[in-house]
Amino acid sequence: MSRVESVFFNGLYKQFESPITKFNCGYKCAPYNQKGVPFCCDTHHAVPTAYQSEWGYLKSHTNLWHLWNNSDFKHTNNLINLTPEGHVLIECLGHDKCQREYRSITCRSFPFFPYIDHNKSFIGLAYYWQYEDRCWILSNLQLITQQYLQEFIGAYQILFDKFPEETENFRQYSIIMRRTFGRKKRAITIIHRNGNLYKISPRSGRLRRLVYTDLQKFGPYKIAEKLPFLNEDLVLT
Ligand code: SF4
Ligand code: SF4
Repeated sequence: MSRVESVFFNGLYKQFESPITKFNCGYKCAPYNQKGVPFCCDTHHAVPTAYQSEWGYLKSHTNLWHLWNNSDFKHTNNLINLTPEGHVLIECLGHDKCQREYRSITCRSFPFFPYIDHNKSFIGLAYYWQYEDRCWILSNLQLITQQYLQEFIGAYQILFDKFPEETENFRQYSIIMRRTFGRKKRAITIIHRNGNLYKISPRSGRLRRLVYTDLQKFGPYKIAEKLPFLNEDLVLT
């Protein structure tokens, strides 16, 4: 690992370190995972990836990570095929051994990815919709802090400068999302870089501003919402 790469990831991690919400959202979703672990820290639900050079940085600075290789896992081949060139699949020692300063970029980003619109502009954050039924954040988008939003955007601007092919990878993924949502006749929810929430039409790209009461809840969080002891903040902070 070159010193330049080491300085790059050290700096990138420092500028993208805030949690998504003011509190640890892992406490919110873990009770709904049979293993009692936050879903994004359980490789039966989500396997993180790292850039090759990021992997070099991590393995020379911490013993937290190893390469993921689970030949028994039924989705193994699919996951390997879906992993973009220049990335590796990794696994950490477990949620109770997390070292926050050495979380990968995918850990820090989850459940979001940079959304590239019809005009090839990085307009904000979309989310991995496959996790709507598990990730608590996706039922509580109004709780994302502006700090997190700005750090996410800043980090991906730096990454897109360093790895220009990443813009194209996320553009392709945004196209897949538009096709998927177009077929389902659903609008895509975007956390816009201007700090507001919008629905975006997958076909025309037209934006419609959202208010808190427009936001959906999913899976068990829809049921939990109806329970009398729920006490969440209700504003985008
Ligand atoms: S990001 Fe989602 S899945 Fe991960 S800990 Fe937070 S609520 Fe759970
Ligand atoms: S490094 Fe931390 S945040 Fe990332 S998967 Fe492991 S326990 Fe979860």
